Amino acid sequence: MFPGATLLGLTFLLPKVTDWYTGAVTTTVLESIAHGSATGDSPTQKRVLLLKPRGFCAGVVRAIDVVKIALETFGAPIYVRREIVHNRYVVNELAEKGAIFVHEIEEVPDGQRVIYSAHGVSPAVREMSKQRHLKVIDATCPLVTKVHIEAVKFAKQGFSLVLIGHRDHDEIEGTLGEAPEVTQVVSNVAEVEKLEVPDPNRVAYLTQTTLSLDEARDIIHALKLKFPNIVGPHSQDICYATENRQVAVRNVAHNAGLVLVVGSTNSSNSNRLVEVSRNLGTIGYLIDNSGAIDPKWLEGVTTVAVTAGASAPEVLVEDVVNYLRQTGFSSVEEVEVMPENVRFGLPAEIVQAIGSAGSGAAVAE
Ligand code: SF4
Repeated sequence: MFPGATLLGLTFLLPKVTDWYTGAVTTTVLESIAHGSATGDSPTQKRVLLLKPRGFCAGVVRAIDVVKIALETFGAPIYVRREIVHNRYVVNELAEKGAIFVHEIEEVPDGQRVIYSAHGVSPAVREMSKQRHLKVIDATCPLVTKVHIEAVKFAKQGFSLVLIGHRDHDEIEGTLGEAPEVTQVVSNVAEVEKLEVPDPNRVAYLTQTTLSLDEARDIIHALKLKFPNIVGPHSQDICYATENRQVAVRNVAHNAGLVLVVGSTNSSNSNRLVEVSRNLGTIGYLIDNSGAIDPKWLEGVTTVAVTAGASAPEVLVEDVVNYLRQTGFSSVEEVEVMPENVRFGLPAEIVQAIGSAGSGAAVAE
């Protein structure tokens, strides 16, 4: 049932998605869904359009693997600063295996092992870990690290930095901490108007990795109007997974009467998927699992599009799809909008630990 993949001598068990569903899932292509032609459905038959790509991104897979491998290799307790990824189900599952989640580094006892979450940390957190003699494993997503490096580079070059993102998000807290004295955070176009900098010709911008493409574009446009010589990153900071999931919703939402996004309320990229749907005029809701679905949402709806944020596990998507099947949405078509095959290597601390532990270590589930 579960095919394996080998990485660094370890066997990772990969779920075969369609095995999880209690009924058949038909894979179809974008062009065919408007009339239900791929499966011969009449347009009036209730159906689910299961978007692809959806769910776990490479950074989330890596972060979860890091916690599992650390628990296997070192044994509990393993402390994790903040939620390793923004999904309650994932956090609870890892806590059951022995991970201890803390909010601040001061809560980790001196000398213990701590994992930084996929959202990254500020230099102040790294310094505090040093002072407490903690053994650090850094599960920061490499695409978040890229933004940190850009922040340091621009600050060293004497730029004032505008960081586009949500102030209360763990990722922004970490990136802001790289150059707090020259960085200002903006969350919308109105805040751009209020910006004041020492030299309007030496301004750079960066963005959170999980923003709405449309919102970021509008804010960057406003920044360019206010600071015509503003510079940005070489490639956009919004990550591939955020973009791909938004593009999938954008392509399919108009074929659905309802879009359900599986994800937790504190997941930035999941919230953005709901916004994309609503901005296109299709009602969208963010749900943790099938228990959050209000049956009233389904009244008069013949097509439900289902997707998942980058931190939502497939088992919760399965739960939602099976609920919809039981309520009459008997046809399930997986609509692949684009291929996605990104994997990240493990952090050096984990690779070294695996090497020291010998080749007998194994990771499961
Ligand atoms: S959503 Fe993007 S930036 Fe965040 S962990 Fe996933 S790949 Fe990395």
